[in-house]
Amino acid sequence: MRWHSSSSPEGRTGLGVLQGGSHARAVFPSRGHRVRRERRRERAVNPPGLAGAHYPVAVVGGGQAGLSMSYHLRERGIDHVVLEAGRVGREWRERRWDTFCLVTPNWQCKLPGYPYQGTDPDGFMVRDEIVRYLEDYVAFFRPPLVEGVTVTGLRRSGGVFDLTTTAGAFTADQVVVATGPYHAPSVPRMAERLPSDVEQVHSSRYRNPDQLPDGGVLVIGTGQSGCQIAEDLHLAGRQVHLAVGGAPRVARFYRGKDCVAWLDEMGHYAKTIDAFDDADGVRMRVNHYVTGRDGGRDIDLRAFARDGMRLYGRLTGVDGAALEFADDLKLNLDRADAVAEGIKDAIDAHIAAQRIDAPAEARYVPVWEPSEQPRSLDLRAAGVTSVVWATGFARDHRWIELPAFDGRGYPMHWRGATSIPGLYFLGLPWQYSWGSGRFEAVGRDAGFLAGHIEASLRLADVCGTLTGAPSELASALPLG
Ligand SMILES: Cc1cc2nc3c(=O)[nH]c(=O)nc-3n(C[C@H](O)[C@H](O)[C@H](O)COP(=O)(O)OP(=O)(O)OC[C@H]3O[C@@H](n4cnc5c(N)ncnc54)[C@H](O)[C@@H]3O)c2cc1C
Repeated sequence: MRWHSSSSPEGRTGLGVLQGGSHARAVFPSRGHRVRRERRRERAVNPPGLAGAHYPVAVVGGGQAGLSMSYHLRERGIDHVVLEAGRVGREWRERRWDTFCLVTPNWQCKLPGYPYQGTDPDGFMVRDEIVRYLEDYVAFFRPPLVEGVTVTGLRRSGGVFDLTTTAGAFTADQVVVATGPYHAPSVPRMAERLPSDVEQVHSSRYRNPDQLPDGGVLVIGTGQSGCQIAEDLHLAGRQVHLAVGGAPRVARFYRGKDCVAWLDEMGHYAKTIDAFDDADGVRMRVNHYVTGRDGGRDIDLRAFARDGMRLYGRLTGVDGAALEFADDLKLNLDRADAVAEGIKDAIDAHIAAQRIDAPAEARYVPVWEPSEQPRSLDLRAAGVTSVVWATGFARDHRWIELPAFDGRGYPMHWRGATSIPGLYFLGLPWQYSWGSGRFEAVGRDAGFLAGHIEASLRLADVCGTLTGAPSELASALPLG
């Protein structure tokens, strides 16, 4: 367990005001609040560790979401603790490949109070730069962060949340779950039917081509990870076989600008989930594939095929070394291109409507067409010795023993606030907008929740009869 200075029990004033950060300031000057703070302080007699402590707010997860939350709580003078199972930046540090870089341009990295300040706003940070960005953020505002502590259980009793952790149990009035959207690697069970001598790795464990045995590699899935890993292997000269799924694609640049910049200008990223009839569907959408590698470029699977990569449709069956695929390769390629061209149509319309002086650009012409739909692959005959499963992640919130989820295990929430008073989620894809699960807008969502939390605490102070827990009424406050 590693306490950052301002988060150690000794570093806390116990008066709801955190020391050490330039943003520390007191709020809630009312007598009622002072009394409540004193009560909290009594309960927060916690040295030498976390065990037995009480916090007004506990933030679980020290990624970009948890840190953004902490920044906004700090800004409001709300005493809290951030618990991180590993080290800050763990997700980027431990679950990305060596050549990984952002797909979104650096200028979209808008951590609250600390937007990207480097010299390449239109570029794409590589893995280690992203980790440094997060570490620098910690150094910048010194959140009350405890690293190396996993929260293993969350319950609610007597108006407070009980958190069990690898460093002991403690309580909190309110809890923000910022544990990221991608928990357990998701691999279909047909993987168990592959021959035992075929090396299998999930995309989160893939690092570089040298990690895999000599021979061909089958990559399953064409979301962002699958496409980029297939490219990584392809550029390294490996014979790649790629099972192409239904993910859409987007061009990197069009008519003189990054498509992300156009979409931003067109208000796409300001659109909120409330604007969609099918919020559930939007939240489950697969990301468009494109890359930021080498300054950014398209990912064109047809060009890969032209240059020797073998493409297949969706993987449908495994019987030892004999694999079967759906006959949807052409469909999937055509659909991905149609989405990319549709985005260009929208950009053209925007340019015309706004009378923007942008250079003309010829449209994409497919550089390769499948002459047949390969339905099978014999791994032995093709010399394939390894398989990379780029098949995404499953959520794992089983440690939260509260009725906050729907039938799929997805948290039921509005803008991160749940029907359980004082329980919030942050960092979910499309929690409120496209950027919610990304660097682009997680800070805005954190600011919203901090306002909600502050209002709950104020209301609890005014009501005076509450013993630390926000009231049902406070949790239902229509903020924002
Ligand atoms: C392959 C890939 C590429 C991406 N590319 C981009 C991109 O280009 N641009 C972009 O903006 N976004 C991108 N994202 C999306 C998003 O930015 C990342 O997923 C990011 O890591 C999410 O940040 P987070 O803080 O919400 O969650 P995480 O980074 O996952 O952080 C959650 C933290 O919580 C900790 N934790 C989990 N459970 C517990 C527990 N029980 N107790 C204590 N701690 C716990 C974890 O250790 C982790 O550090 C990408 C995602 C993936 C998977």
